[in-house]
Amino acid sequence: MSAEATNPGAPLRKRGRPRIDLRRLGRVALLGPVSRDRLPDAIGHVAEAHRAHYPDADLAILRKAYVLAESSHRGQMRKSGEPYITHPLAVTLILAELGAETTTLTASLLHDTVEDTEVTLDQVRDEFGDEVCYLVDGVTKLEKVDYGAAAEPETFRKMLVATGNDVRVMSIKLADRLHNMRTLGVMRPEKQARIAKVTRDVLIPLAERLGVQALKTELEDLVFAILHPDEYERTQALISSWSGAQDPLTDIADSVRATLRDAGISAEVLIRPRHFVSVHRVRIKRGEMRGTDFGRLLVLVGEDADCYAVLGELHTCFTPVISEFKDFIAAPKFNLYQSLHTAVVGPEGAVAEVLIRTHRMHKVAEAGVVALGNPYTQDGTTAAHQAEPADGERADPTRPGWLSRLLDWQESATDSDQFWATLRDDLAQDREITVFRTDGGTLGLPAGASCVDAAYAQYGDEAHGCIGARVNGRLATLSTVLNDGDTVQLLLAQDASSGPSPEWLEHARTPAARIAISAWLDAHPDGAQGPHKSRPDAPRPQVQPADEPSGSRGRPAGRAPTVAVDTPGAPVRLAGCCTPVPPDGIVGFTVRGGSVTVHREECPAVARMRAIGRAAVGARWNTPDDRSDTPDYRVTLVAESFGRPRLLADLTEAIATAEAAIVSATVEPPSEQRVRHTYTLQLPDAAGLPGLMRAMRDVPGVYDVSRAQQPAATG
Ligand code: MN
Repeated sequence: MSAEATNPGAPLRKRGRPRIDLRRLGRVALLGPVSRDRLPDAIGHVAEAHRAHYPDADLAILRKAYVLAESSHRGQMRKSGEPYITHPLAVTLILAELGAETTTLTASLLHDTVEDTEVTLDQVRDEFGDEVCYLVDGVTKLEKVDYGAAAEPETFRKMLVATGNDVRVMSIKLADRLHNMRTLGVMRPEKQARIAKVTRDVLIPLAERLGVQALKTELEDLVFAILHPDEYERTQALISSWSGAQDPLTDIADSVRATLRDAGISAEVLIRPRHFVSVHRVRIKRGEMRGTDFGRLLVLVGEDADCYAVLGELHTCFTPVISEFKDFIAAPKFNLYQSLHTAVVGPEGAVAEVLIRTHRMHKVAEAGVVALGNPYTQDGTTAAHQAEPADGERADPTRPGWLSRLLDWQESATDSDQFWATLRDDLAQDREITVFRTDGGTLGLPAGASCVDAAYAQYGDEAHGCIGARVNGRLATLSTVLNDGDTVQLLLAQDASSGPSPEWLEHARTPAARIAISAWLDAHPDGAQGPHKSRPDAPRPQVQPADEPSGSRGRPAGRAPTVAVDTPGAPVRLAGCCTPVPPDGIVGFTVRGGSVTVHREECPAVARMRAIGRAAVGARWNTPDDRSDTPDYRVTLVAESFGRPRLLADLTEAIATAEAAIVSATVEPPSEQRVRHTYTLQLPDAAGLPGLMRAMRDVPGVYDVSRAQQPAATG
């Protein structure tokens, strides 16, 4: 156990052993003569930091890279007057301390040689191999992004492409930016502000996404000091004002240590000071600071199970603030972060926030992808603490899910300004959710994503034909916002004539969906004319969400509105785009397959249809009186089937073709791949029932259709 002294007056991030110390690197030793027998002193710091994470690392290649970098940069000076080589050395030391593997460090030492010296990429490839060459090339491309402001959006796309192929490129870029930010004081104020803004808008969100907390927090403080100097000073004064007082967290930490010792749980209990920006945020949130707000308790344990044991003890022996409890172990954040968060009330009534994690989780929390090791080696060069992939999204550490998505849609965005704007939106979202597909896969989506987003994430442009969704087994509108852990199944129309409606844009949160929908709408100014065109907030009226009581739309229970048209015998459907209900004026159009789609008269689709010469078909509502002279035959059928995409769409298609109207439908959550649909249907007469049941049985995947003993439940 380590009891940690706290001293809020000291630079914040220097306190606390587990915090990876980055600040002491500012002045890397100036260079002595390079000896053949030993590493030069400057690279010695790097070697030492690297060996701490990788005791068996081969240092020869680092030395070789250093020698090349030093000799090629010789004579170049930084604006501060220091030899240029101090920069790549500092960058490499940052990465070494975070636990980056040898290849990354080699490329980091060389990262500015191709851009700024006589060294060529071919030379790097010849001497250090393809991998190092690839990383150096990627960083060289990124370098141009920062200083080519005129073409920023376009070059940023290139930057993402470089990143997308290997996240280690971005690791180097982040460390490079951190060192440049630390040494920004020598620049003109306007230039400082410009660089700080790019750091704020792009580099910090990327550091967050990549889980590199240690870099992110320091970058945040550096940006804060440049862009908000007054607030920064105020925060600094606030922290100083507490530096003399006894830290109330110390007492709570002592109590926690005693509690865990009594419980026989081996744990380190540390006080982890907040960084400046974090203190500032807490002050804004609370209005005023409590003594316990300047830091948080960090409890480090050996095993995952110990985390919960600690939590149990804390919640038993202290009064927990339950609303503060979050389990990021069971449900890790998108950036690999895992911890338990809680807050407890200490002896004096002070509330202390507590983070509980294993040592492995702590390393990942601090260093994120940088600590994941070389993704291309299976052997010991990979960090021993490598995070296990929690799902398909995280299986490839070089290319996390969000990055794959960015790369996918950067190819489809033709307008770089649009790309830039949507990228910033995407990065501004603070969290991702994981939803499960019924085929066993997962989709990573930003928080707030709807079924529309899920459709485009899963099916790409095929999602244009999406007509509905099931969320956790229940029919849902496309506008439904998904929650972490939901199971989503998307229903696609089979005919190619359907397409997205403009309203979908209101429910699309992801750039991929927005770009695809916009592109489709631009290419189809007349809109879709398919029978499945729907708007997300209006389910097809024939299909009622399973959780909605029958009749809730203001019509008598069990009496779905029916329409008579002037084309006898043709199947009739109500258009999804305008969802007509009585007593709307309506008009029909014959569509592919001979069925008639009925729109409201004022629906824009009607004008478009007429404009292209499509003949209207007369249509009118069957009033209740009309219906009284036709037998009102209702039946409840249960369809048992194997779950598959489009099953619901195919079943409802079969039902509509048999001229039955769906009064209500219930879809039970799939169990062992089997799905049970229960439909209450209204037929013109009982004679149609055998044909209807045959048609439903003919739908692929359906293995039984039977009459239910009870009418379909409506809730
Ligand atoms: Mn650099």
